[in-house]
Amino acid sequence: MNNLTSIPAPPRRDAGNAYYRPTGNEIDVFEHAASHRLPVLIKGPTGCGKTRFVQHMADKLGRKLYTVACHDDLTTADLVGRHLIGSNGTYWQDGPLTRAVREGAICYLDEIIEARKDTTVVLHPLADDRRILPLDATGECLEAHPDFMLVVSYNPGYRNLLKGLKPSTRQRFVAMSFDYPDADAEADILISESGIDADTAGRLVQLCGSLRHMGSHDLEEAPSTRLLIHTARMMLSGMDPITACTACLAEPLSDDPTTQAAILDVVRAHF
Ligand code: ADP
Repeated sequence: MNNLTSIPAPPRRDAGNAYYRPTGNEIDVFEHAASHRLPVLIKGPTGCGKTRFVQHMADKLGRKLYTVACHDDLTTADLVGRHLIGSNGTYWQDGPLTRAVREGAICYLDEIIEARKDTTVVLHPLADDRRILPLDATGECLEAHPDFMLVVSYNPGYRNLLKGLKPSTRQRFVAMSFDYPDADAEADILISESGIDADTAGRLVQLCGSLRHMGSHDLEEAPSTRLLIHTARMMLSGMDPITACTACLAEPLSDDPTTQAAILDVVRAHF
């Protein structure tokens, strides 16, 4: 720990606005959807910028953001709210979805297909023209604030193909596909997010391009922009490239020693 190179100050950000490097027309599509009060579905592999994009758009539109990481134990009550017991008896506490509906915020459900179908059914009347949220437990039926926006994402990787989203759910959304940024954009992101120099950023991006070409028979999932940023940060604080790439690329990407060795062969060709 004590031989860490001093880490430069984080890159400058526009005040209050999460940095996001656009890779296509996603900002335009999102703004149009927001102005028509339509919900948005974002598909894309892990670590490709979906969450950062939603954060950026919330800042840009000046709306509060409630993010929920979905999982298979998530219940409707986790989204909508529940009765709790306090010193003065029971009281109702809104969940993140209900708060967003009341306040005119963005509710972002990350990895929505991890949630059970009976949980997400509550989204249907919110995601169409009705824009209502019936609260069975309190007998209320909330009409969504005009600025309320529902945004969901999922990773359509091969493991999720069977799970998918029901057509009746997905056809309510304006949808867009994200992928890893092209080389120039990814290098810009790397420089901005880690503070690494342009030459090293370029080499890391090339390395990542080679790993992404290793294909699905070797890697369950391609290395993400997030992993590259971690690698760049470790290198910037003084770690040698091979150790940083082992810890931030080879180990997170695979448990198989042969695959890890193949990844390190590619790493050595770039550093
Ligand atoms: P996802 O939600 O798709 O899993 P994130 O949005 O959390 O991924 O992205 C992981 C990290 O990659 C972010 O924290 C950010 O540092 C970086 N990143 C990825 N794409 C972009 C982009 N287009 N602009 C800025 N940062 C990005």
